[in-house]
Amino acid sequence: MDAADVDGDLVEVLFTEEQIQQKLAALAMQIETDYAGKDVLLVGVLRGAVMVMADLSRALGRHVEMDWMAVSSYGSGTKSSGVVRILKDLDTDINGRHVLIVDEIIDTGLTLRWLTSNLASRNPASVEICTLLRKPEALRTTIDVKYVGWDIPNEFVVGYGLDYQERYRNLRDIATLSPSVYS
Ligand code: IMP
Ligand code: MG
Repeated sequence: MDAADVDGDLVEVLFTEEQIQQKLAALAMQIETDYAGKDVLLVGVLRGAVMVMADLSRALGRHVEMDWMAVSSYGSGTKSSGVVRILKDLDTDINGRHVLIVDEIIDTGLTLRWLTSNLASRNPASVEICTLLRKPEALRTTIDVKYVGWDIPNEFVVGYGLDYQERYRNLRDIATLSPSVYS
């Protein structure tokens, strides 16, 4: 789906498909350098990270493994609370592995902070985070994010895996959603 297909629902396209691919290529280059000579397991956080995982992994000119986790974060309203439940765990034993968590957006950072410490308790060689987008609030949480595509303002965005009530994930670009859609 292109922005033109849901034109009236969007305020502004923040990042086009092409800009996203360029950013992922740049992140992939850093990752290749940092993990040279090491095995990497990419761990995607379902469902939002599917697009980032698909394109980031293909931008890498080296072997990687991929696994997935699904977590639900309970909170009041739309904010996550940091209380997390695992809906789908890894199929991979990460003992001694270099784990790179792949996510699409960090808002409060509470979900990923929990996930990072959960994975760290399984004795991996390392655990790092790669996110395409990061909101300002994440900077106030004690969470160490090694790879960030873009820091964005505190606005609700959709597309490229990011949803509003499960829609817009298949939008090619990343855009801000019009308030008229909420009401
Ligand atoms: P947090 O970092 O624990 O607050 O939770 C991050 C999760 O909230 C992401 O994985 C998304 O599922 C969701 N989220 C946060 N901000 C947005 C947004 O602007 N659009 C769509 N989903 C969002
Ligand atoms: Mg997510």
